[in-house]
Amino acid sequence: MPKKKKRNRESEKVYKLYRIEGEKLIRLRKTCPKCGEGFFLAQHKNRLACGRCGYTEFISPKKA
Ligand SMILES: [Zn+2]
Repeated sequence: MPKKKKRNRESEKVYKLYRIEGEKLIRLRKTCPKCGEGFFLAQHKNRLACGRCGYTEFISPKKA
């Protein structure tokens, strides 16, 4: 019988994008303004990018 571990892995992945503190749901990643809430931006060294539409948001370095 094939093991269905893929589903578990995916849900674990999603958990890393959120953090629940008390009753608050904190998003650790930004979502794509073009694709909507369900699409997270992939974090790169100096930018955030959407893998779906190609939207890129540059992170301004904070020096303070
Ligand atoms: Zn997008």
